[in-house]
Amino acid sequence: MTEARREGSRDASVCSCAPGGKVYLVGAGPGAPDLLTLRATEILKQADIVFHDALVHPDTLEFAERAEKIAVGKRSGVYSTGQRFINKRLVDAARRYRVVVRLKGGDPTLFGRAQEEVDALRGAGVNFEIVPGVTAAMAAAAELGVSLTRRGTARQVVFVTPRAADGERKNDWTASVLVADTAVIYMGAGLAESISVELIERGKAKDTPLVLVESATFPERRALPGTLAELPKLALKAGAGPAVVLLGEVFRDALGDRALTPIGNVESFLKEA
Ligand code: SAH
Repeated sequence: MTEARREGSRDASVCSCAPGGKVYLVGAGPGAPDLLTLRATEILKQADIVFHDALVHPDTLEFAERAEKIAVGKRSGVYSTGQRFINKRLVDAARRYRVVVRLKGGDPTLFGRAQEEVDALRGAGVNFEIVPGVTAAMAAAAELGVSLTRRGTARQVVFVTPRAADGERKNDWTASVLVADTAVIYMGAGLAESISVELIERGKAKDTPLVLVESATFPERRALPGTLAELPKLALKAGAGPAVVLLGEVFRDALGDRALTPIGNVESFLKEA
């Protein structure tokens, strides 16, 4: 029995007692609700309140049958709740409710600002727990039927983002992509031109195979294969959904027809591309 269930079984969804409830930073996975972990569904069922990212699938929220659901977090270009405000709401909620869930897309510890929430919760003496989720990179690789590592040829995988928040220290993200056998670039579709130019300028081969995977695990998912030089063109074809760029020799087969074990409608998108 999970701690959430034990807590939830006490008949008090709202309490004013100290030290208050517990905050669960839960990974919602890449989209499809059946990619939630069992632990995540258990905790959602017991949740009194859920603060969720905009990208979380509506059916995933259905697990939180009795919770108040509040959309926070961001989609680029769309109104977002400030991170500090989210931190404060989590701390406040922990004083009022027993089971508070912060539901984040993919895995909470990857490009999800989880540390800021953890620091705020720790600082306020709030009990918390992180529940891992399936990150977008894993979901995209699975849908393509391509292993991110390959015996003898690909032993090093990096997850990077070229996106830095305002005022954030610039980080040489290209350096890690240059040395990695396989790279997964998050939040990069809008920066396709500069990613392609920068990596090629720094010495990555123009014909490095890549696949841009959009809306992995959603019905409208798309896989657009091409080369590093073609990335800007592929990004123009992509829609407005979240997208990752998977890059490396392991995707060479994706450039042709062979060796892909497509799921659902990925195959037709590959042919179309
Ligand atoms: N914590 C999340 C990542 C958050 S950053 C995770 O572990 O997956 C948001 C970025 O994740 C998006 O810009 C996109 O690059 C990627 N992403 C999230 N969901 C995705 C999906 N279903 N398909 C493709 N990329 C996705």
